[in-house]
Parts: sequence; C-alpha cells; structure tokens
Amino acid sequence: MKRRDFMTTAALAGIGVAAGVRVAPVLAQDGTMGVAAAQRFSIGEAVVTAFSDGFLPIGADALIGVTAEEFRTLLQAAYIDAEAHPTGVNAYLVETGDSTVLVDAGTGAVFGPGLGHLAANMAALGVDPGAIDTLVATHLHPDHIGGVVTEAGNPFANATLKVSDTDLGFWTSEDVKAQAPEEVRQFFDLAMAAVAAFGDRVEGFTGAAALGPGLSAMPLPGHTPGHSGVMLESGGDALLIWGDIVHVPPVQFARPEVTIGFDVDQDMARATRAKVLDMAATDRLRVAGMHIGFPGLGHLEKAGSGYRFVPSLWQYG
Ligand SMILES: [Zn+2]
Repeated sequence: MKRRDFMTTAALAGIGVAAGVRVAPVLAQDGTMGVAAAQRFSIGEAVVTAFSDGFLPIGADALIGVTAEEFRTLLQAAYIDAEAHPTGVNAYLVETGDSTVLVDAGTGAVFGPGLGHLAANMAALGVDPGAIDTLVATHLHPDHIGGVVTEAGNPFANATLKVSDTDLGFWTSEDVKAQAPEEVRQFFDLAMAAVAAFGDRVEGFTGAAALGPGLSAMPLPGHTPGHSGVMLESGGDALLIWGDIVHVPPVQFARPEVTIGFDVDQDMARATRAKVLDMAATDRLRVAGMHIGFPGLGHLEKAGSGYRFVPSLWQYG
C-alpha cells in the first residue's frame, strides 16, 4: 500500500484527524534541539556515555575513491539527503567505578556553531570535567582535542592526557609541521596547544598499552600515524571505541576502500579499516565511532563486498 492510499484508509477509519499538522522542532539558541545529546550504555560493569559534540558536513569532495554520483547513490540508499549529510562528532565517557575516562574531547570552539556542544551536554548530565581522571585521545586532530583549548583554560583540570607516542611525536614536531601542506599546519598548532594544556600530565603509550581498569589501546594506524582505538572489556562484555575508522558511514561501510583526504597515510588507513571491520563483524564485537551518527554504537554484519551497520538500541535499564 502506498502512503497516499494508506492516508485515505486511515481517514476513513477516523484516525486521520491530525494528518497534515506539522510540528516544527523548537531549536535552542545554540542551534541544537535544546535537549542533551547524551546516551548511556552498560558494558559489563562499566557505564559508557555517548556525548555528541555536534556535526560537520563532509561531502564527496573530501573523500578519495568514490565519485560524486556514487556518493549520492550510497547516501540515498541509506535514506540520507546527500546535499545535507551531517557527519556526527562524538566523545565517550567510560566509568568503571575505579576510573573516569573520557575518550576524545570534541572540537571546542575550533569549528563554528555546529560543533562544540560536548561541554554543554556533559553539564546537562552533571558530569564535571574536573572529575575526569584520564583523557584518552584516539589521535590529535582538532575535532578530537579542540575541547581542551578554551579561553577559560583546560576544563579537564585533573586529568592525565594519554595519547600514543607516535601521534604525540608527529603532531608536536616542528620539523614535521614545516614539511606538512600549508592547510594542515594549523592542526599541528592546535595539537601542540592541547598537549601543552596538560603540562606534565601527559603520558605517551605504545602499542596495545593498558589505559586503565579494563581499558587498553588498539593501534589503528593510517588516519594518523598513531591513531588508536580504545578497547573496553568488562564482565564478559566488550566495546571497541575506534576513533576515526569511518568518516562517512553510509559510504565507507558499503565501500571500505574509500578514504578521506585527511588520512595521513591513505594505504595504511584503508588496510587498517579492512582489518578492523572484518574483526568486528567476525567477533560480533560492538563498536563505537566518533563519526558514526549519534550515539554511534552498534554491530557490523558483512553485506556484499562491504558491511551493514546495526545501531544499538536505546537501553531501558
Ligand atoms: Zn575525526
């Protein structure tokens, strides 16, 4: 039955009274829906809270390996308007009872009004940034550590910054910065400012290092040299917070070979994505992604030559 026929049937049955009434969403002054974009999940004994920082538009021109036409077709297949596709920016709070760990810190004021909502969303849930003992940065791009650099200073006043030695070395190197393309040099400046904001509370890690109770790093290099996921294991359950394995999910789940211009090493990013998608699907491992539509948790299934993402549903208790 088509919608038009259904509406006629519904009206005849006396339930179409409200048809045609449109209720416009009430937007708050900051352009958000005025409610906290935060959602809690239990992973074993741990509680993971997904926070939205906002969204940024990523179009076909930012991607490599997909035409504008293919981009549009893939987004249409996911019922998304290709012209206005928002890529979400998320951060995840992991509370284990012994530790309060924030994985990534959003953009702060770096990217305009569509972003920078992490602090407000945390405040709405009563999460005090001063109570966070560890900030793990999956990598040192501005949409992951911009929230550290504010006019009022670093809001994570008591946290230790943990980031891979490789990313730390790369993004704080004046030599590497000098050789980088002009347009990404400001990424280095922000990374250096963010690291400096932690003073001596910076710990580099190598490989699959322990990051706290039940938490360990998973090297996922390519997007940046030291890009790392965070693996949470608790009470027989697990979650891999994988950072930037995908940037435009409807495209890159279907076509994992598609990369983004910001990948420092395109081939390595592609190989890492292939490996981690296969692992997550094979092991039925739940994942969370910084750029998967909010709240960004779910499972993967193999589908054709790519994957299908099955979002985690609201958890009632
Ligand atoms: Zn990112």
